[in-house]
Amino acid sequence: MLSWLRRRRRSARASELMPSQAELRALVAGWPCLARLDGDALQRLGRLTGEVLAGKDFHGAGGLAPDRADCLPVALHAALAVLELGYEALDGFQSFILYHDEFEVDLEEIDDDGLVHRGRDLRAGEAWHGGPVVLSLADVLQSGQGDGYHVVVHEIAHQLDSCNGEPDGFPPLPATIRRQDWTNSFSAAFRRLERTLATGTEPWIDEYAAESPAEFFAVATEYFFDRPDSLLRHEPDVYRLLALFYNQNPASRTNSACEQDRTRLH
Ligand SMILES: [Zn+2]
Repeated sequence: MLSWLRRRRRSARASELMPSQAELRALVAGWPCLARLDGDALQRLGRLTGEVLAGKDFHGAGGLAPDRADCLPVALHAALAVLELGYEALDGFQSFILYHDEFEVDLEEIDDDGLVHRGRDLRAGEAWHGGPVVLSLADVLQSGQGDGYHVVVHEIAHQLDSCNGEPDGFPPLPATIRRQDWTNSFSAAFRRLERTLATGTEPWIDEYAAESPAEFFAVATEYFFDRPDSLLRHEPDVYRLLALFYNQNPASRTNSACEQDRTRLH
């Protein structure tokens, strides 16, 4: 009963908070990864953006008091990641924490000799297991420009990966994907990237993907949404599996189709 009530309240509030057609048109114009969506998908994206704004908490940090203009692109890109999965796919976390720019985090590592090393690192985004998604707004605005960088879908990928334990590049899979297919295809792609880096050759994908299988999945997700042609060309099996996982096919969206559809928005 409680979840039904919550859903109903969220739905009512989502209608109030969803971007207007004019807002949606302005936002889409600034992001090539959104500009590829057709008219129907854009309408659903707007609705889902309203649900994210209504259902999640947005907190500021580092002196930022986020307003609607700050939260809107975050919700919009989170909605893109789960456009065909639905709002419930984001149930694993409740809050976004937003900074103006990159933020410092404390690091603690234990080396092979058991020595503890402490330091600080600058981050554009961070996803806590079961906890908030932390984002630099400057990086959110730089995301989705067609160069394979997309901090929001990267962190959402980590959250989806966290739904069955610590992120390991093996999220809960839909029935359309065989576990062995996922393991074989992602492991092979990860090893290919490691071999490329070992030869000193510049890889086609951000080399951060080689940090771990979890990072490979998150960075591959960035390319899936932001440079789908490149992912499809270099790692067709990974592309195919992500298309099944997200139930989207970004490489099939053409800018010309989008130009036609965009003119239909009022
Ligand atoms: Zn990551």
